[in-house]
Amino acid sequence: MKNEIIIIGGGASALMLASVLPKNSVTIIEGNAKPGAKILVSGGGKCNITNEVMGSEYYVGESHFIQKSLELFDENVLLRWLDERKLRPVLRKGSQYFCPQSAKELLDIFLKESKKQKMLLNEKVIEVSKKDDLFSVRTDKRTLTAKYVVVASGGLSFPKLGASAIGYEIAESFGHSIEKTAPALVGFTVQKDQFFFKALSGVSTDVEIKVGEHSCKGALLFAHKGLSGPAVLDASLYWEKGKIDVNFLPDFPLKNILKSKKQLTSLLPMPKRVTKAFLVQLKLDDKIGAKITANELSLLETLKHYSFAPAGTFGYAKAEVTKGGVCTDEVDAVTMMSKKTEGLYFIGEVVNVTGRLGGYNFQWAFSSAYSCAQALKKEVG
Ligand SMILES: Cc1cc2nc3c(=O)[nH]c(=O)nc-3n(C[C@H](O)[C@H](O)[C@H](O)COP(=O)(O)OP(=O)(O)OC[C@H]3O[C@@H](n4cnc5c(N)ncnc54)[C@H](O)[C@@H]3O)c2cc1C
Repeated sequence: MKNEIIIIGGGASALMLASVLPKNSVTIIEGNAKPGAKILVSGGGKCNITNEVMGSEYYVGESHFIQKSLELFDENVLLRWLDERKLRPVLRKGSQYFCPQSAKELLDIFLKESKKQKMLLNEKVIEVSKKDDLFSVRTDKRTLTAKYVVVASGGLSFPKLGASAIGYEIAESFGHSIEKTAPALVGFTVQKDQFFFKALSGVSTDVEIKVGEHSCKGALLFAHKGLSGPAVLDASLYWEKGKIDVNFLPDFPLKNILKSKKQLTSLLPMPKRVTKAFLVQLKLDDKIGAKITANELSLLETLKHYSFAPAGTFGYAKAEVTKGGVCTDEVDAVTMMSKKTEGLYFIGEVVNVTGRLGGYNFQWAFSSAYSCAQALKKEVG
């Protein structure tokens, strides 16, 4: 069976690519029974599609490479594309665009647009090879051939939604290098000294986390296994090992408390349970502000620079994305074609581009797919 273009994976980037390519030019091969599984669970079921504040600085990866795709298909072009299909995402949490009702609204658009293409479901790709000008794609059901192959199989995160290492395996088999992969946008597990966090499970407080030169502001959620919440997830993108620095009192000058007649648990802008837990750790009483000594004030300063080394992360099972992946200096930034094998393309999360929390990863999936589509359109007409 000969195909023009085979797309490996039926997730966000594949669906965008299939939607914008000419009718009957594409065969999607998806391991799951249904395409777009991650779209449905994303953004708490409402899919954080993109962000009003866009740029390569919101990604980990080679900025010139990322910028090329964003220039061609940025958040405004994406929003217009969706608007033409009657989806008007709404701004929430500041600058993040979500589906108005549910992520299904976005998936439905892709399903409608990609109806014109062929989709093989419940079929897993095992291997890709190339002989002369033709690729052979071996699945667990058959072998197909195609002139062009697009690897859109995502990363390793959320294996229960179909994630696999096939994209990296295919890339390596064609001589590509893979930047070391790791779970990202994921919670941290903690070491013994921070086990007291676990007693605060379910409580959330606003913090600023510093990982090297990167700063991540937002909510930190104490979780049963350690730490989670948007600020922590963002911080995980930059963390490899070693210490992080958490400011539990961002934008709060501690000297403000010195003239107050209120107790620390009422004065400090944190949930009372969190303040109490830290007072126990610092061996401080819940005194009124005006009675705090200089020595006690310097102990409280610890809350502004609470530095510790996470034990690790919650792993791929809980990570929203995988950082690392197919090295970008071996992929053309304009077409997304392999610089090693003509006709082989990589789009979406499988590439070594990872966005911060806030819709940046879907934007990358869509932008890279769109770039690839422009190149493929020239080939298939
Ligand atoms: C819980 C969760 C919430 C998220 N929320 C957001 C959010 O709100 N905003 C945001 O920007 N990003 C979010 N993300 C990240 C986002 O979903 C991904 O970055 C994006 O889906 C990547 O698109 P992709 O096409 O590269 O890969 P995917 O969407 O992961 O698609 C890859 C597809 O390939 C298939 N596949 C894998 N191996 C094989 C094989 N051997 N054969 C055939 N098919 C195979 C998989 O089943 C999958 O369907 C979230 C992720 C998770 C897990």
